[in-house]
Amino acid sequence: MVSALELRGVTHYYGALKALSELDLSVEPGQVVCLLGPSGCGKSTALRIAAGLEVLQDGVVSIAGDVVADRSGQAPPEDRGVGLVFQDYALFPHLSVLDNVLFGLGNWPRNERRERATRMLERVDMTGYENTFPHELSGGQQQRVALARALAPGPGVMLLDEPYSGLDARLRDQVRDEVLHLLKTTSCATLMVTHDSEEAMFMADRIVVMRHGQVVQAGSPAELYCSPRDAFVAGFFSELNHVDGTMRDGMAVTELGEIAAEGFAEGEAVDVVIRPEALKLGPTKGASASQFATVVEARLLGRTSLVHLSYPWPVPDDGHRLHLHARVPGVMLPEPGQVVSVDLDLSQTFVFPKQTSVD
Ligand code: ADP
Repeated sequence: MVSALELRGVTHYYGALKALSELDLSVEPGQVVCLLGPSGCGKSTALRIAAGLEVLQDGVVSIAGDVVADRSGQAPPEDRGVGLVFQDYALFPHLSVLDNVLFGLGNWPRNERRERATRMLERVDMTGYENTFPHELSGGQQQRVALARALAPGPGVMLLDEPYSGLDARLRDQVRDEVLHLLKTTSCATLMVTHDSEEAMFMADRIVVMRHGQVVQAGSPAELYCSPRDAFVAGFFSELNHVDGTMRDGMAVTELGEIAAEGFAEGEAVDVVIRPEALKLGPTKGASASQFATVVEARLLGRTSLVHLSYPWPVPDDGHRLHLHARVPGVMLPEPGQVVSVDLDLSQTFVFPKQTSVD
């Protein structure tokens, strides 16, 4: 299958700063791919190069199998068949909603433009706002019109740069749900930039995690969450507990017990990474005495409760204790000082070489 969008070996400098390093990326028709990574890792640069808003320095950009940019030249953004929803591609304030959407249809036959624009506004649930001006709309409504404008010409590729960052949390949830369903009714390929892992998991068929201008790991949301390749990737998807370990006979020996791990040398120091939801709390009755902790604090966060623990209990002679965070479903608010048993869910516990947790 020919990729809808492909970047191959894209390297980009701003002066001496290397923003992208040999970046390879592809998006298939109908797929939503999210570029996820910390601020400054090169996500927007990759998107802007795909759009043609940034001059390509090295590498190749292809759309639907056609090279649109390489070292010999590049097609302008308007000739690439891409729809853009970028922060700096806001609606034209002096144009009505309808005229904003019509703007994207400049090349269409005159008699079809109005009908198409009206239909797109209907699809984003903005019928009745045709003659309204952008400043009269809420942030969510503006975002819907921007999406209608970008989708109106029927682009093969949609490029979205932090499209919901201007919206408050509840509106964001609603708009991104609408956008996901709308995109999935088109055969358009979508590349979206976000620094929010939950947003990436919500939207993406595939997530590409970036760091320092390079891809660290790419895969489905479930692959990245359940099998992160290092502590950086694991840490992007949730808070983590870090526990030191030492390899003995194929097991990472830690204060919390032994965890099987392959590919490490005997005696190697390892970073054992435990997601807060991997700590299962229970009553002390019937549990092994080596698995007890005391509750420091407990807070209800909504769908889950966060329990701060001091491990182990009783306090060892050297006084050394771990501060751990356990995230448990629903309401669980034990009193500070209460002793609980702690069990590890190994599917949410990962062993990495020591240095990978240091960025
Ligand atoms: P992200 O989208 O992941 O936050 P960017 O692609 O915006 O990252 O930026 C990558 C790096 O390039 C950052 O260090 C940023 O400061 C730098 N950068 C981005 N745009 C420019 C520019 N126009 N001039 C100089 N440096 C830039």
